[in-house]
Amino acid sequence: MLNIVLFGPPGAGKGTQASKLIDEYQLVHISTGDLFRMHIKEQTDLGKRVKELLDNGILVPDSITIDMLEEEVVKNPDAKGFIFDGFPRTVAQAEALDKFLVSKGSAISLVLQLDVNEDELKRRIAERKKVSGRADDDEEKLVKRIDEYFQKTVHVLPYYAEQSKLKVVNGIGVIDEIFAELCGAIDAAK
Ligand code: AMP
Repeated sequence: MLNIVLFGPPGAGKGTQASKLIDEYQLVHISTGDLFRMHIKEQTDLGKRVKELLDNGILVPDSITIDMLEEEVVKNPDAKGFIFDGFPRTVAQAEALDKFLVSKGSAISLVLQLDVNEDELKRRIAERKKVSGRADDDEEKLVKRIDEYFQKTVHVLPYYAEQSKLKVVNGIGVIDEIFAELCGAIDAAK
């Protein structure tokens, strides 16, 4: 199984690259942000519990996020592999994911970090807001989400670096060139 974690701050291009990667490698894409937004839209119990957190760019508690993620993996028993996008965001989530995959006889193959600086991120998110009108993307909340990334989420990277699974890719540039670099890293890890 080919299990990839696509890592990077909000607006780094994870969604764009993930959709190209799933086509290339026939993987199942699991974005915890998309799943939460779907629950909110459908007004499920989970959606009601997490709405305020998402509206404020605050991380959802680990136990809720891990349960939702595992449920999604189990729904796809025939998958050739997964692209995890926006997950894990804490070391506890990374450890839970490892444990869960081991229980399925699998493991994370590679962690791809899309590296984008803060100025570029702000420019991209302003652009995305114009197109999607996402409620959590206004200025104040964006700062909060970026803060969450640099305060909490980045601490996951050493966890994977220690396992020699981390590959850093420059996320600024032409989409297809970034994609080619990601594919090169995946092919080398296969
Ligand atoms: P994203 O679209 O990945 O930027 O996620 C949007 C929001 O969903 C985040 O700001 C968090 O509130 C929540 N979220 C998504 N993934 C996670 C995660 N792995 N752990 C905790 N909260 C998450």
